[in-house]
Amino acid sequence: MIFRQAEGGSRAARVAFLGLGHMGLPMAKNLSAAGHDVVGFDVFPAAVDAAREAGLGVAASGTDAAAAADVVITMFQSGAQVIEAYRGVDGAAGLLAVAAPGTLFIDSSTIAVDEARAAHALAEAAGHRSLDAPVSGGVVGAENATLAFMVGGSDEDFAAAAPLLEAMGRRIVHCGGAGLGQAAKVCNNMILAVSQIAVAEAFVLGERLGLEHQALFDVASNASGQCWALTTNCPVPGPVPTSPANRDYQPGFAGSLMSKDLGLAEQAIDLTGVDARMGRLAREIYLEFAAGPGAGQDFSGIINTIRTDSAPA
Ligand code: NAD
Repeated sequence: MIFRQAEGGSRAARVAFLGLGHMGLPMAKNLSAAGHDVVGFDVFPAAVDAAREAGLGVAASGTDAAAAADVVITMFQSGAQVIEAYRGVDGAAGLLAVAAPGTLFIDSSTIAVDEARAAHALAEAAGHRSLDAPVSGGVVGAENATLAFMVGGSDEDFAAAAPLLEAMGRRIVHCGGAGLGQAAKVCNNMILAVSQIAVAEAFVLGERLGLEHQALFDVASNASGQCWALTTNCPVPGPVPTSPANRDYQPGFAGSLMSKDLGLAEQAIDLTGVDARMGRLAREIYLEFAAGPGAGQDFSGIINTIRTDSAPA
């Protein structure tokens, strides 16, 4: 049973929210504000303190939180962290071992498709239910409960999780079976990376040819070059006043996160053997960008690297 009848007739779940970082803490706060009984935990003590200060209940360990929950949500950095937490390390019991049978595990971390499938298999073998539910929308989306969730798992588990995901997000898409939420996330971000590089290259080429930024924007945004990387995340200041280019490329979506997601895309490309040359090149370009100036910059800042690396005018 995921939901219990709460005071006043509303339906509430007991949720263990593990991983209270940039994304996890505001997501957990939104679940709590929606009336769910949320208990959080993070291995980083300062994150636990921040959760406590925000008025969330906190547990002494992840397993303590999971043992008393109907739903366990994880929001970690990597797939290895998710699998370790599920299994337990150094002989200690993991989350799957302590949770009551039939607990719904929802992993919202961005991890590789094959890692997500492994996590599903572990959860199922331990008698639990599970979904992969990565998000897009960043910290602002997490704070405002406007995240997009891409969900993989069974129809039944998706239906059970939907009210919880709706408390944290605005667009909830069931993408198919195990791992397909992560598949949708890597495919979308590969499109985004390739298109952001293409838009940036076009602006630098236009500059060299004597074309004003606004003129290129006015043409391309109303023609077949139209895309989010141009009309929302425009890499030059001016045409789209809200884009990161107007605030010195403060993220937005940091180059380091784009590089991470492209690494996961590359893993999926390797796994499937797809001839995705643009995706691989985008991975190479953002890996380099994230190792240099792009670590803390919005990924649209790639335009500055393109200018710097271009032959002198
Ligand atoms: P973060 O590093 O701020 O938070 C992750 C937290 O998980 C850390 O506080 C860490 O201590 C904790 N953690 C790790 N292992 C744990 C365990 N076993 N038990 C409890 N806590 C544990 O990362 P974030 O920015 O919140 O991102 C989380 C995930 O969301 C990542 O996979 C990221 O790729 C994805 N994501 C992030 C953004 C963004 O804008 N930050 C956007 C979309 C998706």
